[in-house]
Amino acid sequence: MTRFYELGHDESSPWKGWFEARHLWKMPGAHCPQCDAIWNTPAIAYPCVDLSNHPERHKLEKARLEEDFAEFERLRSVLRPFVPQEAPLEPGTMFGPLVGTIKGELGPLVLPRSGFHMLARRDILELLQSTSVRGLLGCPTRLRSSRSNGPEFLELQIEPHGLLHPQCLPPGKVAPCARCGRYDISLPESPILDAASLPRHLDLFRLANFPTLLIATERFKEGVERHAPHCLSFRELPPR
Ligand SMILES: [Zn+2]
Repeated sequence: MTRFYELGHDESSPWKGWFEARHLWKMPGAHCPQCDAIWNTPAIAYPCVDLSNHPERHKLEKARLEEDFAEFERLRSVLRPFVPQEAPLEPGTMFGPLVGTIKGELGPLVLPRSGFHMLARRDILELLQSTSVRGLLGCPTRLRSSRSNGPEFLELQIEPHGLLHPQCLPPGKVAPCARCGRYDISLPESPILDAASLPRHLDLFRLANFPTLLIATERFKEGVERHAPHCLSFRELPPR
C-alpha cells in the first residue's frame, strides 16, 4: 500500500531566498447565485497552459470579481478544454507562467511557507523525473533573479485530484455547491484521504476538495530526501 504525505516548507532549510510572482492569467472571482459565496481559489494553477493567443486572454489579465455569474460560467466553459477533464475549474484558477523576481538564494525545490506553488531547479526536476517519480510536469517561468547567472527554475504543475475522506468532514459538507463547485470546509485536525479517489498515475497532486493541501507519495518523498534534502517537510496522512 502506497503511503501519502502532506507537503510543507522545511523550516530547517538552509536557503533563505524567496520569490515574488504571479501567474500571467487568472479566472475572475465569482459570486454564486446558489450558495451566495464570493470566492476564488488561492491555490490552483496550470502554469503550462499558454493563453497568449487566446481571444479571451484580456479578460484574464487582472485579478477581478465577475458579478455576472452567467458570464463567469461562459468563461469557465471556454477554458474547460485547458484543464484535465475531471478537474474542478474554480474561480481564481491561474494559467501561464509565473512572472516576478527571485530574491536571494533558493534551494533546489521551493515551497514557500504560506504558498501553494512549487518551484524546481531544472537539474533537480530532471533527476527526479529520471528516477521514476511519476507525473512531474515542469513549466517555464519568467522570474528575474537578483543574482547574475542564477540557475533556471521551473514551476511544477500540480493538478487537483483526489479527495479528503467524508469521514473527516462535517456531515452535510461533503459535496460541493452544484453551481460554483465550492467546498465549504475547513481543514480537519486529522485529515484522512479517500483512498478510492486518489490518482494512480501521479506522485504529486493537490486535493480536489481542499486544493491548498499538496499531497505526495512515498516515491516522491524518497526521491526528494535523496536528491533535494531540507527543501520540503512531509506529514503522513492515512488513506481509508
Ligand atoms: Zn455556489
